[in-house]
Amino acid sequence: MIEILPDKCDFCGCCVGVCPEDAIELKEANIKIIEELCTNCNKCVWSCPIEVLKFNRNGVKVENK
Ligand code: SF4
Ligand code: SF4
Repeated sequence: MIEILPDKCDFCGCCVGVCPEDAIELKEANIKIIEELCTNCNKCVWSCPIEVLKFNRNGVKVENK
């Protein structure tokens, strides 16, 4: 699953634009991943300029590439 650190997000929208599944909802100062749509492709993680998104595999945090 993708984990967001919302207190660090500046709501730039870069991740929303790259998501092929439209699985990221960004409304004003509120961002969330719609888990039913997310395929864990990781494109959003790579797109975030300030590394707010992390891929979380079985609860184990992995650093961004
Ligand atoms: S991992 Fe892929 S499908 Fe899931 S929210 Fe990010 S870009 Fe969208
Ligand atoms: S790309 Fe990063 S900073 Fe921009 S809206 Fe997405 S999570 Fe927030």
